Amino acid sequence: MRAPRNSMVKLPEWQGKHVFRKYGVPLPRGEVARSPAEAQSLVAEGKVPLPCVVKAQVLTGGRGKGGAVQFANTPEEVRSAAESILGREFKGELVREVLIEEKLPIGRELYVSLTLDRSQRLPLLMTSAHGGVEIESVADSEIERQTVDPFPGLTGYEKRRAAKSLGIEGPLSKALDRLLESLWNVFQKEDAELVEINPLAVVGDGLCALDAKVIIEDDATFRHPDYAEVRDDRTELEEIAREKDIAFVQLDGNIGVIANGAGLTMATLDVLKELGGAPGVFLDLGGTDDPKKVTEAFLLMARAKPAAVFLNIFGGITRCDTVAKGLVEAMAHVPAADRFPIVARIRGNNEADGIAILRAAGVTSVSDLRASAQAAVNAAGGRR
Ligand code: GDP
Ligand code: MN
Repeated sequence: MRAPRNSMVKLPEWQGKHVFRKYGVPLPRGEVARSPAEAQSLVAEGKVPLPCVVKAQVLTGGRGKGGAVQFANTPEEVRSAAESILGREFKGELVREVLIEEKLPIGRELYVSLTLDRSQRLPLLMTSAHGGVEIESVADSEIERQTVDPFPGLTGYEKRRAAKSLGIEGPLSKALDRLLESLWNVFQKEDAELVEINPLAVVGDGLCALDAKVIIEDDATFRHPDYAEVRDDRTELEEIAREKDIAFVQLDGNIGVIANGAGLTMATLDVLKELGGAPGVFLDLGGTDDPKKVTEAFLLMARAKPAAVFLNIFGGITRCDTVAKGLVEAMAHVPAADRFPIVARIRGNNEADGIAILRAAGVTSVSDLRASAQAAVNAAGGRR
């Protein structure tokens, strides 16, 4: 088992739902798949009913808008939806799992969460009738906030006020009471710092949690050894990168890619693939302007032993000469036997300086995107 780390334990949706189920939160039927074939057989064998929803299991939200939540009506559609989601990057994370869930006919989408109000040092219950969108985008006046005394727990009064803010009355309020009670238990007993259901759907005369976000308080992880496994699906290098705050993903190919910004990074992977190359590790430098960070990132990439590296940078905040300096510095630390060819395409801020630094260090620099990508594919041994 790994020692607890100084970072929060954020559960992927399927695992959050697993916890929810234990505490009686109503959920759609669903199963996790790690390959398109597995996804297809889950529905073909009736383990998940059709129509269904195929959802990328990543730790960032906004999947609905980002195409990482798809609907399917047949086993073949489930397979192709899983195919289009698995193995892709979503906001810097490689998608390794999809959750396949029955698609429910939903009425309204609501929002419910429990978190900590650090200024008041009390749990905070937040409810809103505007669910299904990021809560940050909901007007303050549309969100009901109630601090909760942890000793008695949720009171009848607080539950009624929550129901009112959600526009819930009649038989549904019983369902809401039970749900809030379950959610409170998850929050308390699992030492959570956040439990969020967004959306909480009204389905007929019941409620159903369509999404689950659970973050466990890091200082309490010693009480929950199960959660120590949560971070384990990352490779060793990905884990190191995460601790250093570097966006780094390992794929199966042999070309290392260094780019900046998620858009350019994804476009770079696509061009390499189109030219027959196989992108391996990729690194997104984002808006770094620290040569030390570039050096660190590059050394991490070197440990993955790529056949060649393609550097595709658009210099804005991250200046071209910063990247070039960091890279040359890093190369000096890579033992001669482990070196690999590097092809660079750097455009933008301080471009000429950057190219000069790279050329002096023997790095090929080509400014045309396709030509430079082709050079990288050739350097890695051509088409695969
Ligand atoms: P997020 O965008 O990453 O927060 O992903 P969500 O799990 O919240 O899903 C996004 C949206 O997909 C939801 O707001 C719903 O509108 C829709 N959705 C998810 N599951 C279902 C379902 O079972 N039935 C229907 N009709 N819509 C769903
Ligand atoms: Mn959501």
